[in-house]
Amino acid sequence: MAQHGKAAPRERMTLNPQQARIVIVGAGQAGARAAEALRAAGHRGSITLVGEEEHLPYERPQLSKAILIDRDPNPTLIRQSPEWNELDVALLTSSRVVAADGQKRIVGLANGQELAFDCLLLTTGTRVRRLIELDNAPLPVRYLRGMGDALALREELQPGRRVALIGGGVVGLEVASAAIGRGCLVTIVEKADRLLPQIGSASLGRYLQQLHASRDAEIICGGSVRQATSRGLELGDGRFIPADLALVGVGVEPVTELARQLGLDAERGVRVTSTGATAADGIFAAGDVAEQWSRSHDRWMRVENWANAQNQAIATAKSMAGVSTAYDAPPWFWSDQYDANIQVVGNPAGGDEIVRGDVAAGCFVSISVRDGEVIGGITVNSARDMAVLRRLVASRKPVRKSDLENPAFELKRSLAA
Ligand SMILES: Cc1cc2nc3c(=O)[nH]c(=O)nc-3n(C[C@H](O)[C@H](O)[C@H](O)COP(=O)(O)OP(=O)(O)OC[C@H]3O[C@@H](n4cnc5c(N)ncnc54)[C@H](O)[C@@H]3O)c2cc1C
Repeated sequence: MAQHGKAAPRERMTLNPQQARIVIVGAGQAGARAAEALRAAGHRGSITLVGEEEHLPYERPQLSKAILIDRDPNPTLIRQSPEWNELDVALLTSSRVVAADGQKRIVGLANGQELAFDCLLLTTGTRVRRLIELDNAPLPVRYLRGMGDALALREELQPGRRVALIGGGVVGLEVASAAIGRGCLVTIVEKADRLLPQIGSASLGRYLQQLHASRDAEIICGGSVRQATSRGLELGDGRFIPADLALVGVGVEPVTELARQLGLDAERGVRVTSTGATAADGIFAAGDVAEQWSRSHDRWMRVENWANAQNQAIATAKSMAGVSTAYDAPPWFWSDQYDANIQVVGNPAGGDEIVRGDVAAGCFVSISVRDGEVIGGITVNSARDMAVLRRLVASRKPVRKSDLENPAFELKRSLAA
């Protein structure tokens, strides 16, 4: 088992990477999958996975879906407790790392314990962005990031309750669909002129508007919250939304305090190479907290989705174990709202949009083409096409817009072209 305590830093020059003492800070999707991948890659040194949450590592996507909806919700754990022991990973839950020293190669926990490392992986993820207008509001205001938030919110979504959702992003829209499923009366307030504005697709915005309106959600786009009263929310334009509860989903911020202590560039996330390495020797980062160059977006960006947290972490773990593995898959995520499945790959906002299928009927594909390449795509209730879009975006295969615009042209034929 891993050794804790004040172990003296070792001479790193001669160290075999497979025997390094590895500390992973953050026991979410990225941290947990990295620990598994290190062992799978043959890492023989100690692995300590430190997480501040009290739970065993679990999957977050269910927090705005099954946990809110199912009669008997069960958290999806990444592994059961004995399986972490079998893997010889020392899992420290309810343990917050408060200090990191890159020279001494030590991290310090809130309880005073110190852990020595040869290699450090930061998978500290993100925290919710708070809406200061609703701090100290005389109305219950909730945020959704962790298991505790989801279980508490679930209790509050009672039939007939009026729920105001601030933010028409993925979390807000999924909670809207769960709340309506549980008999609540829902109003969605989005600052931009359409729902899911981050994706930058007019057809998706139109579809979501129609989807949520058809389930009796009230939708206010172009609205921002000025303040709360005990009876609801006042918007900037003077409108009043009666509400018993507000759920804020206005984005997240990377948790970078430790990276800053380590002297890393962490203005918008912890900058990493395609192998997860930061600018500091032996210090890596992955998942929501990591900022990597995105080919599909032509810029440095943090990717906040499940697939990236898992796969970037696995590639980084392999590199830490001495098998340099580059990761540059285009971002991909899904969202489930009511009975609709929405998937997005790459950068739909970056090119010309071609829509195939029927937006009004809720079954369509949106393809974003730039300079003869597919750089992004969206499927709505058309998951099979997403497999093709993911391959097109990743491969950068040349495509002809005229083919894609032709409804009779089978999408998968673009792969052969
Ligand atoms: C409600 C919700 C629904 C989602 N739905 C989807 C979806 O449908 N599809 C999709 O693709 N993605 C979805 N996501 C996004 C996806 O879950 C995240 O991208 C993924 O969980 C990120 O994993 P991570 O390990 O990088 O970060 P996190 O999951 O944020 O884990 C980081 C962990 O590090 C811990 N930590 C931070 N600092 C410290 C410290 N100093 N000491 C110890 N521990 C620390 C945190 O407490 C946390 O447990 C959803 C996210 C949420 C919140």
